[in-house]
Amino acid sequence: DSSSGSSGFASKGSFPGRVPAAIGRKRLRIVVTGGAGFVGSHLVDKLISRGDEVIVIDNFFTGRKDNLVHLFGNPRFELIRHDVVDPILLEVDQIYHLACPASPVHYKYNPVKTIKTNVMGTLNMLGLAKRVGARFLLTSTSEVYGDPLEHPQKETYWGNVNPIGERSCYDEGKRTAETLAMDYNRGADVEVRIARIFNTYGPRMCLDDGRVVSNFVAQAIRKQPMTVYGDGKQTRSFQYVSDLVDGLVALMEGEHVGPFNLGNPGEFTMLELAEVVKETIDSSATIEFRANTADDPHKRKPDISKAKELLNWEPKISLREGLPLMVNDFRNRILEGDEGRGL
Ligand code: NAD
Ligand code: UDP
Ligand code: UDP
Repeated sequence: DSSSGSSGFASKGSFPGRVPAAIGRKRLRIVVTGGAGFVGSHLVDKLISRGDEVIVIDNFFTGRKDNLVHLFGNPRFELIRHDVVDPILLEVDQIYHLACPASPVHYKYNPVKTIKTNVMGTLNMLGLAKRVGARFLLTSTSEVYGDPLEHPQKETYWGNVNPIGERSCYDEGKRTAETLAMDYNRGADVEVRIARIFNTYGPRMCLDDGRVVSNFVAQAIRKQPMTVYGDGKQTRSFQYVSDLVDGLVALMEGEHVGPFNLGNPGEFTMLELAEVVKETIDSSATIEFRANTADDPHKRKPDISKAKELLNWEPKISLREGLPLMVNDFRNRILEGDEGRGL
């Protein structure tokens, strides 16, 4: 097969023309799929700033060049328009696999495409990892726990997922992606890492992507009522993006496969979240109740003991500290007329 020329190539760090990084270890070449998106672009910033080479693969379904424009012209950065559903040949040391729409509005827009992205996209990236001996990190999700019957959720919980519902393309897609990662780990000795990410917010989220934090913040800035779905008593735990990025890097660099919950255990009802947004942005902001969506999980809160113990990681930024950090970005983009990707 084609692996003879490149197997072990990546791990020996012998890319032609590479110079040692200033950080006292060999410079890595890293692929970030979905790197033009919200989480991916923050991760890319961190990897570039520590001295590594980054190749972003993105089909721009929900990602934007604007999220990376500050890196254009940097010789250690490369952006490839590519759909992970199709195979690709690259020589790299690490793969952060994020490509997948994350907001319910986006992943339900073309559910079959969401499944193809999760299954075929993950298969291709694992095939790539196997061929070049790269370490592979999957960004899975708290949605693998479905509408959980255990609270808070530990990694040992197998979940309560509807296999035929509107969310299944995402939930079951990510569950299959986890299965693929474990099978490549056991069967082909690929070094894999699995993160189960809980609701994350911050600058560069798509405006109007339907997620609750981006909705409430954009609505409050535009002086529109904040739309609370259902009775607003359902809970979520919100993590600021820089905490997540630190967790993803700690996981990639560590020795444990996982899965690891990466989230902030601070739990809020949607009504409480609306109150915090009101305090942060506009004390005259109002709320409006709307019908809830199908299969909406009633509560969600990570148990992060495993990540604390084995990765020495825990989030540092509370919701009250993190929200103001995304408001300026949202204000500027709303003023500039960026209407995001409201589908
Ligand atoms: P996002 O929508 O901002 O980013 C996803 C990126 O993947 C976009 O740039 C999009 O264009 C790209 N993409 C989608 N399908 C693709 C394909 N077929 N080929 C190539 N590129 C493709 O979402 P995000 O919030 O940054 O999420 C990143 C990852 O983290 C996703 O895998 C998501 O499932 C996971 N995650 C995020 C959260 C969260 O709260 N943000 C929670 C759990 C899991
Ligand atoms: N693949 C890829 N890039 C690579 C190596 C593999 O995109 O560098 C794809 C390959 O096309 C296949 C998938 O990854 O669809 C799984 O590859 P693997 O070698 O594990 O399986 P096989 O090709 O034998 O089905
Ligand atoms: N939600 C809401 N108002 C909105 C958008 C979402 O009340 O404008 C609720 C939604 O019903 C869910 C929670 O907020 O209970 C989180 O939704 P989101 O889409 O952000 O993420 P999820 O955790 O469901 O993937």
